[in-house]
Amino acid sequence: MKLEEIKELDSKYGAKTFSRFDVAFRGGKNATLIGEDGKEYIDFGSGIAVNIFGVNDEEWKSAVIGQLNKIQHASNLYYIEPQARLSKLLCEKSGAKRVFFGNSGAEANECAFKTARKYSYDKYGEKRKRIISLKDSFHGRTLFTLSATGQDAFHKYFAPFVPDVVNTVADIKAIDRAADGRACAVVIECIQGESGVTALDKTFVKELADYCKEKDILLICDEVQCGNGRTGKFFAYEHYSITPDIVTTAKGIAGGLPLGACLFYDKTENVLGVGDHGSTFGGNPVACAGACNIVERLNDDFLFEVTGKAEYLRAKLSKIDGVKKVTGMGLMIGLETDKPPKEVAIECLERGLLVLTAHNRVRLLPPLTITKTEMDEGLAILSGVLQK
Ligand SMILES: *Cc1c(COP(=O)(O)O)cnc(C)c1O
Repeated sequence: MKLEEIKELDSKYGAKTFSRFDVAFRGGKNATLIGEDGKEYIDFGSGIAVNIFGVNDEEWKSAVIGQLNKIQHASNLYYIEPQARLSKLLCEKSGAKRVFFGNSGAEANECAFKTARKYSYDKYGEKRKRIISLKDSFHGRTLFTLSATGQDAFHKYFAPFVPDVVNTVADIKAIDRAADGRACAVVIECIQGESGVTALDKTFVKELADYCKEKDILLICDEVQCGNGRTGKFFAYEHYSITPDIVTTAKGIAGGLPLGACLFYDKTENVLGVGDHGSTFGGNPVACAGACNIVERLNDDFLFEVTGKAEYLRAKLSKIDGVKKVTGMGLMIGLETDKPPKEVAIECLERGLLVLTAHNRVRLLPPLTITKTEMDEGLAILSGVLQK
């Protein structure tokens, strides 16, 4: 279909929730996409950290198609082989003890918050149900996760929110005041993505982990965006020398299929029991088969390469005129630019490069498999746009 026809259908029948860039893609290879008009685009966004092995990765496709040729869905009423294998793989990679699967980041966080409240209920009764989140965080669009999201821009119109979810600044004293002896969990993104790609301070995170441990408050790491190899570690919290009680992830975990996971560590592995939580599609066999392939390949050698690519890209970016600051970690990159980020993104698109924005920064989340040639092509376009 031609782009103009797609746009006409979308504008007539699609909900008006998205402000879309003027392009649709028909295919591609790795980090090079092909538009409906046949034009090539270097992909520095991977569909918001989703296509972490790019597009048309042969190994991943054969895992997915192999499962499609067997059975596409079974229901969690029955045992599901790829789901069981994925649980084991994730636990082996992370040190977690058990995994619950949903279909998205929001659902993974929803599961984490419910689990925190049940943990606290089992131990302390009704009096410790508060969930604390940080300013400038993003945790999803469902009401519970929106309640935890620390950015007012997402909040208008949707009150009343889920009660006893409190937002505060990244400071131990402020968190202790917000907790007021009634908190069951603190949720953090080690690298805040949507608000501009900002890594939390290492001392703060370590202190927070100690504080939570001392008070028996659960520490939840939202690794929906920063996890799955993006920073050169399997999960970003590994850079912080902490062990969380719950980790949530989604976006890149299945290489482009919808899947969310909530990982339970020592304290939380036995909190949820039969009937406490569920999902029709969660842990779908096709998504899990794709995820098994992805997670298996995120091994030490691969992560080492990610770190090398990140160093290369960051060094080049910091030398571009018009880049004031490079933030984030690994291949999760924020750029403070002289030009407004939205303008940068539109001009990049016109010249054949996809970049994202996050609040007041340009955001880069390239596929982890991006090649040096693809990086160089993208860098050339970006520096052209920023220097103009
Ligand atoms: C994207 C994102 C979410 C929400 O994920 P969905 O799959 O869109 O529900 C939650 N937390 C973080 C940190 C994210 O980046």
